[in-house]
Amino acid sequence: MNQRPNSLHAADIAYTMHPYTNMRLHEEKGPMIMSHGDGAKVYDTEGKEYYEALAGLWSVAVGFSENRLADVAYEQLKKLPYYHTFAHKSHEPSIRLAEKLVEMTPEGLNKVFFTNSGSEANDTVVKMVWFLNNGLGRPEKKKFLSRNKAYHGITIASGSLTGLPANQKDFDLPAIPVTHLTTPHYWKFAEEGETEEQFTARLLKELEDTILAEGPETIGAFIGEPVMGAGGVMVPPEGYWPGVAEICKKYDILLVADEVINGFGRTGKPFGCERFGFTPDILVTSKQLTSSYMPLAAIVVNDKVYDAIADNTAKLGTFGHGFTGSGHPVACAVGLENLKIIEEKDLMGNAERLEPMFQDGLRKFADHPLVGEVRGVGLIAGVELAKNRDTREAFEPAGSMAAKVVALCAEEGLIVRNVYETVAFCPPLIVTEDDLTEILARFGRALDRAL
Ligand code: PLP
Repeated sequence: MNQRPNSLHAADIAYTMHPYTNMRLHEEKGPMIMSHGDGAKVYDTEGKEYYEALAGLWSVAVGFSENRLADVAYEQLKKLPYYHTFAHKSHEPSIRLAEKLVEMTPEGLNKVFFTNSGSEANDTVVKMVWFLNNGLGRPEKKKFLSRNKAYHGITIASGSLTGLPANQKDFDLPAIPVTHLTTPHYWKFAEEGETEEQFTARLLKELEDTILAEGPETIGAFIGEPVMGAGGVMVPPEGYWPGVAEICKKYDILLVADEVINGFGRTGKPFGCERFGFTPDILVTSKQLTSSYMPLAAIVVNDKVYDAIADNTAKLGTFGHGFTGSGHPVACAVGLENLKIIEEKDLMGNAERLEPMFQDGLRKFADHPLVGEVRGVGLIAGVELAKNRDTREAFEPAGSMAAKVVALCAEEGLIVRNVYETVAFCPPLIVTEDDLTEILARFGRALDRAL
């Protein structure tokens, strides 16, 4: 798009540095400026309508025009716009939201710590694991196990847990001790002739071998997204998660489920860990927690983790960690109302009910000449593009075809996201069958145009 002097476009180019952006390309291309939202749709400043089939950044469960969240935010801003939760201070929104999260998350997860973002939450998890192991007198039990293509955020610690080159190269990450294991994605990483069962067995053996080689006494925690999101929407092979949970238990390694994308119905069950049959010691949520109307993340921990941390705070006199915005009253009030809407409208049930239509609808593109694999569960899916489906050969340069398809989708009035070779879908949980029909039709047209 041409620069237009005195326009919002020109001002954007002149003054802003965008996250996740090739800034030199942005100077040429300029921004797509969004103006307003309506249900599952958003509109740009030129009035063009788009289905937002990534729910913003995998996050807007209730759609882009939920006035109940605006009203609750306004009421809270008038009543108590800010208060902190440091050193015994509290307020009703953070208490009620913590109570709600304990009620909604799997049995055994009983205490909640709030942060402003998923990255801060995972950074906090790293510090919790270090803090509690120091408190338990085992200061060597500090390393993390993660997976290649994991996404856990971009701060120094969470960016180290992330397993994607773009988040690490030239940022000098990883900067904490972390070992990245094989990505649990059968289509892409299975060896020639390997069955899914054998693939799972190989990954579990790799996990156990790594623990034994490094020493179980040096490994604090394993972290993973039940379904990997930003690395390309990868659904784990059968038996993977129960196997990981069993091995972690055997070697006294804490299991962290990063449910920043998966949480609150995205996978067709309330939490991804429930969909894949395991119970973590620590569960991290954000995004759909407030539908991203306000920044907020929550870490929910079991009694074992809480007690070890709490005992150490008694010894040291404090938990020397927390953010000005931890448990922000406006964010928590919005979060609580958002979860009430999710329950009242049965949006988690909606995701479960629409799963067959959505997933089968996308799988109809599996034979398309540009498509390598279609995968997903619930209302999250990835269509991986490949030059050759059988050899899994990707298009050159890397990610270029996915970027082309996503640009054509935008022309067709559909926002999806290219993550490496994959076109990712994660529509708002409020979508209807008619919305999905239209999303699939627009995607099909874009895919054909990319041929
Ligand atoms: N963890 C997961 C699984 C995520 O998908 C993300 C963001 O996409 C994060 C953590 C980081 O969250 P934030 O962008 O709020 O820092």
